[in-house]
Amino acid sequence: MGDMTAGLYGHSHPVIAETIMSTVTEIGMSIGATTTAEARLAEALCDRFASIEQVRFCNSGTEANLYALSVARHVTGRSKVIVFEGAYHGGLLSFAHGVAPNNVDKDDWIIAQYNDPDGVKRLISDKKDFLAAVIVEGMQGAGGCIPGTLEFLYAIQTAAKENGVLFILDEVITSRLAPGGIQWSLGLSPDLTTLGKWIGGGLAIGAFGGRRDLMAIYDPRTSNIHHSGTFNNNSLAINVGHKAITTVYTAEACIALNELGEELRSELQELFSGTKMVVHVTGIGAVMNVHFLPARPQTKIGSIRDLSIESDSVEAALRDLFWFYLLERGIWIARRGMISLILGTTELEIAHLKAVIIDFIDEYRGLLVAM
Ligand SMILES: *Cc1c(COP(=O)(O)O)cnc(C)c1O
Repeated sequence: MGDMTAGLYGHSHPVIAETIMSTVTEIGMSIGATTTAEARLAEALCDRFASIEQVRFCNSGTEANLYALSVARHVTGRSKVIVFEGAYHGGLLSFAHGVAPNNVDKDDWIIAQYNDPDGVKRLISDKKDFLAAVIVEGMQGAGGCIPGTLEFLYAIQTAAKENGVLFILDEVITSRLAPGGIQWSLGLSPDLTTLGKWIGGGLAIGAFGGRRDLMAIYDPRTSNIHHSGTFNNNSLAINVGHKAITTVYTAEACIALNELGEELRSELQELFSGTKMVVHVTGIGAVMNVHFLPARPQTKIGSIRDLSIESDSVEAALRDLFWFYLLERGIWIARRGMISLILGTTELEIAHLKAVIIDFIDEYRGLLVAM
């Protein structure tokens, strides 16, 4: 499970534990002031994520996205935002089944289909007079680990630029998939990027950053818009995050973990092929999702529509069965089938996971009949 990808370092990494203790005893947990540690973490993030010229901290990925949207709305003077079916941008920004009942800004969302480059291009140009931004995950995480295609993400970037709309890339999860995030892997240059989850070393954190001219709206020297928040720069998350990013999840560690994940994903996919079950293991690097699907003519998973299963179907039962089966054998994944590897995962653990899945397949081989 790896705390839904935030627990990248495991649950008691010695360097993290030591930094928590030394921060508490030597500095204090949260001191209500700007600190040099904050500048150091900001620098580490700007070094790492090419499009981030300046960055500000908050306490969660949800907040980071709310702030990024506030920048877009303020700068453009417009309020509508294009989001994608299946997107998850936070507790108040959820689009798994349309606009969630508790979402903020209820009337401002325009929902488009993920991985539909022509559709989004058309929508951006049609709605440009009302649009502040397009917000997108480079790989939909909660939506089922569905990677965005290069063509789709570039279509957003280009159309946004042409129409004076901001391109916000939510890298709360995808920032851990490559040393410079998915923007580095795909060569994207978003106007704003949001971060969270793993960047606090496992502690609560969020960050939003990007173009200097946009971030200027929160510059207290020249703007009267406040970015206030008691814990925004709390020493604990900031110091631990800095230590974690600069000494634990180095570029080398990041590459190695994601290679391990990439290998595991293709091995899992291989295990399921040749069974009657229709199983897709989607994802990138060390973050993946096992999907049990009905036999359908198309085989590519491009959007949440391709993952739809009836709640009383064999596939839904199989998904739950898989989860319980793994749980009983000491493996804790997300019930929706998401697996996120943590640092220090051993060959032995990977072998155990694979062995358990082979047993599962043997036991339930006959369950799904390919049609
Ligand atoms: C988890 C997540 C968020 C929200 O982060 P929180 O810290 O849980 O508020 C936002 N965007 C994406 C893509 C996420 O996976």
